[in-house]
Amino acid sequence: MTRGRALVVGASHAGAQLAASLRQEGWSGEVVVIGDESALPYQRPPLSKGYLAGTSTLDELAIRRAEFYDKHEIQLLRATVTKIDRAAGRVVLSDGETLAYDGLGLCTGGRVRQLSVLGVDLPGVFYLRTFADVESIREAALPGRRAVIVGGGYIGLETAASLRALGLEVTVLEAADRVLARVTAREVSSFYERVHRDAGVEIRTGAVVEAMAGDHVVRSVVLSDGEHVPADLVIVGVGLVPNTELAAEAGLQVEDGVVIDDLARTSDPQIVAAGDCAINHMARYGRLVRLESVPSAGEQAKTAAATLCGRERPISALPWFWSDQYDLKLQIAGVNTGYDEIVLNGDPTRDRDFSCYYLQHGRLLAADCVNRPRDFVMAKQMISQGIDVERAELEASVGS
Ligand code: FAD
Repeated sequence: MTRGRALVVGASHAGAQLAASLRQEGWSGEVVVIGDESALPYQRPPLSKGYLAGTSTLDELAIRRAEFYDKHEIQLLRATVTKIDRAAGRVVLSDGETLAYDGLGLCTGGRVRQLSVLGVDLPGVFYLRTFADVESIREAALPGRRAVIVGGGYIGLETAASLRALGLEVTVLEAADRVLARVTAREVSSFYERVHRDAGVEIRTGAVVEAMAGDHVVRSVVLSDGEHVPADLVIVGVGLVPNTELAAEAGLQVEDGVVIDDLARTSDPQIVAAGDCAINHMARYGRLVRLESVPSAGEQAKTAAATLCGRERPISALPWFWSDQYDLKLQIAGVNTGYDEIVLNGDPTRDRDFSCYYLQHGRLLAADCVNRPRDFVMAKQMISQGIDVERAELEASVGS
């Protein structure tokens, strides 16, 4: 059935790609993308990078121009889906309207994890997930002001770099004993701590936030030892919660994401899912993996579109990710969970380019490549194809 109505819930990286791919795969009926944000589907990664630093505009963030959707007869509908009625094959919108579907794609992404401490609702405390969030932050991010960032993950660190570029004093508070603790080796964490300190950012690890204090606006962040860290604005970046409620209430299988198979089908084969909201069993890692990355959202969305059009295009690409901070482009190939050894090429205590390879039982699992695009491409290839590589080769390869 490629002549009925395909509905896509969520108009961001996954939703926009799913709609475009439906046309490429030959879906000839209606394609309607329902999203609850006011802008055309836009790229989220620049929000903590160029868009926050003021070097790119919202127009430049558009994933595709408005004409693309017109030309391919993809209807963008601004609305919130509140329910999926699987028995009737339709969704319900917040105004009570219903829309029938012949194929349904869930691309609902995620929302920021809220910090549940006293004072977190004070004006001047922000989260960062949407362009609207960044617009509010930018109004408050005046040169010379003191910004405190709660959370030393990629988004927190990118935000720190962008706020430094805007001339703010920046402190990063991280509860763990190092930044990026969940995702990188200690050596890579130390590298980023050094780089940020060199740029004038105060990085404080082991800093557990207990409250925000202020009167009509936030004035300080209170740590568990009672210390008040002065703040004119606070940005909280402590992770993401996948938007799975619609799927769960419709009786679809949900874990830490809407469970999909390698054809992006949920437990209802008429419904596919893709992007940050979806979790799938990856044979490569032998477990369910939910990825929060643009390349994965795109890959899953292409698979989902093929599936709705009756074709099989299994999800197979190696996960990858990137992060831009200052002059540093980090590219990550694979997922390093379960590594038992690392190999460094370059000296992260001194250089601004190096690669960190993660091995498990002697096999290459993942790589973090900082300003080393060639290493990244090679690592991606080796991991994807399962090519055996010796430790000495990784140490000796000349990076670029
Ligand atoms: P989302 O982008 O979360 O979009 C989901 C959309 O669905 C949202 O617009 C949401 O409002 C809408 N929606 C949800 N429920 C409903 C409903 N019921 N009805 C209607 N609409 C609904 N990834 C990288 O690979 N590299 C990076 O450098 C990088 N940097 C990032 C920086 C920041 C600041 C952020 C926030 C993310 C970054 N990411 C990065 C992650 C990347 O942006 C996400 O992986 C990507 O946005 C996932 O796309 P998605 O379409 O699955 O979900």
